[in-house]
Amino acid sequence: MKLLRHGKPTQEKPGIQIPNGTRLDVSGFGEDFDEKFFETDGLHRLSVWLQSNQQKCPIVSPTTRLGTPIGRPSKIICVGLNYSDHAKESNMELPTEPILFFKSTTAVCGPNDSVIIPKNSEKTDWEVELAVVIGKKASYVEEADAINFVAGYLLHNDVSERAFQLERLGQWVKGKSADSFAPLGPFLVTKDEVPDPYNLSIWLKLNDELLQNSNTKNLVFKIPFLVSYISQFMTLLPGDVISTGTPAGVGLGLNPQRYLVSGDVMELGIDGLGTQRQEAVAYSA
Ligand code: ZN
Repeated sequence: MKLLRHGKPTQEKPGIQIPNGTRLDVSGFGEDFDEKFFETDGLHRLSVWLQSNQQKCPIVSPTTRLGTPIGRPSKIICVGLNYSDHAKESNMELPTEPILFFKSTTAVCGPNDSVIIPKNSEKTDWEVELAVVIGKKASYVEEADAINFVAGYLLHNDVSERAFQLERLGQWVKGKSADSFAPLGPFLVTKDEVPDPYNLSIWLKLNDELLQNSNTKNLVFKIPFLVSYISQFMTLLPGDVISTGTPAGVGLGLNPQRYLVSGDVMELGIDGLGTQRQEAVAYSA
């Protein structure tokens, strides 16, 4: 299944995208796609409900705004330097174990919403990433069992302010957390529809110029390892997002470096997970 949420910000309703590309409103199911939904086997319950109710679901106009495919997660955990070419362009060593950092959950936005260049920012950058959504509570999970804790996958632009991230004291979280810095979607694709998440093209264009162009086969630490590893340090809740890192081609790694200015357009995608399009706009109070 492909789960989505549609409508105005903060008023999104649940929906699905069926194989012919049509989007259907599933408000009649009566639940949002949030922690409780995943925790209570909502994916299975929704698929059963659809068997007798799909014909009655209203069609969502293709022009209707999409929000994040899941309600605000309890946390967004990101993996740093998980593609060797990106570590190289960042002038950093490939880590011997995953680098983890958080992104604020207030950073989430819809896949095609504007990305706001923060106040006092000169180095806002892009990072196309494959993200994982957790399907059930995970604590001290074995790697061999870890895939059972995954609900599915979605596309994420891990928008990053490099001066806030790297030139200020302390942790990367400062450069990762501004409003609109986590466009998610267009949809959550359940894991049964992505049998091999390690052979997907992953790309990003800035103003029609292809700057990131890789394949998820180049991921250093794979998803079961990451879920198991993270669960040694914290409990993962249903609906939590793990973003698995970006390949080369970010603005920080270009020569000369290049950062977003108002009016720039990012388009990005991953095979089977859809595409996003964001225009960069300057912050205004
Ligand atoms: Zn990232």
